[in-house]
Amino acid sequence: MSGPAVKPQEQKCQGISRVDEPCDKGAQQYCERCGQWFCHTHYPDPEWHACAPEQGEV
Ligand SMILES: [Zn+2]
Ligand SMILES: [Zn+2]
Repeated sequence: MSGPAVKPQEQKCQGISRVDEPCDKGAQQYCERCGQWFCHTHYPDPEWHACAPEQGEV
């Protein structure tokens, strides 16, 4: 129990486009619905993030 709070491991965007194109950007936003991490670009993008349209509910 010493030192600063542990930073979460660096996550990469887990979004996958309709053409199975992966994204290797660092993820910034975690979605509790699907339990995946997305970068700022793909979090709100329904083509990469299946439940993106519902994010407004949270
Ligand atoms: Zn999601
Ligand atoms: Zn991404």
